[in-house]
Amino acid sequence: MPTPLIDGAAALEAALDQISPVTAVCDVALAQATGRVAARDVAAPTAMPFFTNSAVDGFAIRLAGAAVSQRLPVVATLAADAAAVPDLPEGKAIRVFTGAPLPEGTEAVVPLEDVRESDHAILLETLPEAGANMRRAGSDQPQGAILLSRSRRILAHHIGLLAANGVRQVRVFARPRVAVLSTGDELTADLLRAGQIYDANRPMLLSMVQAAGAEALDAGVLPDAPGPLATRLGELARTADLVLTSGGVSMGGRDPLRPAFLAAGGTIAAWRVALKPGKPIVFGRLGPAAFTGLPGNPLAAFVGFQLFAAAQITRLCGTEPAPFAAFRGRAAFSWRRRPGRQEVFPVRCLGTDETGLPLLQRLGNGVSATLFPLAGADGLAIVAADCADVSPGQMLRWQPLFDGMTHDA
Ligand code: AMP
Ligand code: MG
Repeated sequence: MPTPLIDGAAALEAALDQISPVTAVCDVALAQATGRVAARDVAAPTAMPFFTNSAVDGFAIRLAGAAVSQRLPVVATLAADAAAVPDLPEGKAIRVFTGAPLPEGTEAVVPLEDVRESDHAILLETLPEAGANMRRAGSDQPQGAILLSRSRRILAHHIGLLAANGVRQVRVFARPRVAVLSTGDELTADLLRAGQIYDANRPMLLSMVQAAGAEALDAGVLPDAPGPLATRLGELARTADLVLTSGGVSMGGRDPLRPAFLAAGGTIAAWRVALKPGKPIVFGRLGPAAFTGLPGNPLAAFVGFQLFAAAQITRLCGTEPAPFAAFRGRAAFSWRRRPGRQEVFPVRCLGTDETGLPLLQRLGNGVSATLFPLAGADGLAIVAADCADVSPGQMLRWQPLFDGMTHDA
């Protein structure tokens, strides 16, 4: 009796159940913080802006007694780095540039374009409102405001905000270690004889592991021999937080992965997912490590990583994964399919419909043995197991092929 297939949602749950997030932390300089996950909240050391300053190039004035067409002599000039700031005398103006600290007594800043200037004086053409163009001390954020929350993946805008606040380093979770092993007698680096192929999965998975924010450990290639495979899996489980393999995990005669994994002492939590491509996937634990066995067919390995391993790594890193394929698009193709398994396929964007939704062309005709359809792809779309056909204009869920690091909890 073949093992029944589990559905995609149950498989994701089983995949995530194997994961305990890393707890070790370290401090990194801001320049090294991109993509790391914050291990604690970072509070603003001071209120911002530090001092009241001008939002525009213009003239600081008092409003008491000010009137349209009134002539105000300009008695000083202040730039953004002015250290000595005079008080603003009654009936006078001080020229200020954007960011300049404002003189005591300033009630508004009149933009350059709202005055006429002659003879070291200005004529007001309109009367500004009280506080116009003044950036008041503390108006952006109070002292203690949370600039970066624990468990957030750190992106460029966090780095800019922390830098503006004078924060130079952040406490982040240690990068989890993910080992990547390829299995298969046919895999080789130099195609010495007929029947051999290059290893596509290991370089691809190593790249995806890094993009997901983990440290990638290259565990090489092993032939389809259960004994050595069991030994290597045992070793890897002692050095990695997650062991990721590809190949050898279906029900054929040359599929040594599960027997080797069980011989090494592993426990299997789930095996075989109602997914196309990518049915032969196994999730389990081996000693202290989580274990995920992806299929050998490269497109199936890619899809399996995107749906399950990427989410596992995100959780390992200390943050929560975003749902896969949360973007909407419209089919620009028709397709009849056999219901039964959820299906993921490469798509290309052909522009947008009148509402701005992407129009998606299906690529690849359902093959899983080649990555070639991804060469022209902009993303992966997904249809539910019970879907029997797709017609042009139908709404689809899809996932652009960005770098995984742009996703946040
Ligand atoms: P398997 O899951 O081991 O039965 O492999 C399924 C198919 O994927 C076979 O055609 C394998 O030759 C191929 N395959 C397995 N691993 C890799 C790999 N790392 N790179 C490229 N193709 C692979
Ligand atoms: Mg194989």
